[in-house]
Amino acid sequence: MMYDLIEVTPKKNNKKIIITSIIILAIIIIFTILLVKPSQFLNKQQNNISDNSIISSDNVNNKTKHVSSVNMNPVYTEAGKELVKNIYHSEEKTVYLTFDDGPSKTVTPLILDLLKQENVKATFFVLGSRAELNPEILKREYKEGHYIANHGYSHIYGNIYSTPQAVLDEYNKTQDIIKNILGTDYDGHLFRFPGGSSGGKYATIKTEAKVLLEQNNIAYVDWNSLSNDAAGAKTKEAIIENTKSTIGNKNSVVILMHDAGDKILTYEALPEIIAYLKKQGYKFKNFYSIMK
Ligand SMILES: [Zn+2]
Repeated sequence: MMYDLIEVTPKKNNKKIIITSIIILAIIIIFTILLVKPSQFLNKQQNNISDNSIISSDNVNNKTKHVSSVNMNPVYTEAGKELVKNIYHSEEKTVYLTFDDGPSKTVTPLILDLLKQENVKATFFVLGSRAELNPEILKREYKEGHYIANHGYSHIYGNIYSTPQAVLDEYNKTQDIIKNILGTDYDGHLFRFPGGSSGGKYATIKTEAKVLLEQNNIAYVDWNSLSNDAAGAKTKEAIIENTKSTIGNKNSVVILMHDAGDKILTYEALPEIIAYLKKQGYKFKNFYSIMK
């Protein structure tokens, strides 16, 4: 019966073939578009997932309402390498507040309260050994939009600078601790050498470690302004004065401070330092502006 119909109405059959061909062609085009674009779809989905997870964990804890709009998973690209290299040469007045040696139970939460109040995002170079002791504070730093960078595990020069590989090992050990605490694949790709990246007794080891870090896609950064809160400054006023004088008339500033347990003076000096920087027209940034 079907055969008869087809033979009897050949024109209708041609129409059917044409329509079918158009439908098949349309399906092929739609599939081709979907195959070309999947990476974009995936990226969008991943961003949504990370944002949602932050929101939901905030709701569970009911502690912090702030949700950062930045991508919380740093990426270290070629463009980022250039930005790190030129960090002291930005065109606009820029300041990076950086805190080393934490997190601590006594000082870090106070600094976080203040940063929230001032709406300033900072960078924390955490020690693996301290993060292990204060996981909730590390989580808070992350949730409130601060950048978590790596300061090694031990801070004992004889250990971390025993070999270049020891530097990388301490980086990786600390990174594993950070990932476990945050429950994400977070890697800041950013290290700060305890005591600075050059000079001193371990200068040769540090130079070799820099090569090793670069091979592992890890940047490092020192500072060009310091409060001298780790050595020397005995009063809040001295910390403020040291910071102001080392900022000088620099256009881009990376300020070294500390949030270890005994650095209460740093916290006490911070409101005045932030007010000074705001008055001078500096824009506050953290390393999310580079690792993107
Ligand atoms: Zn340190």
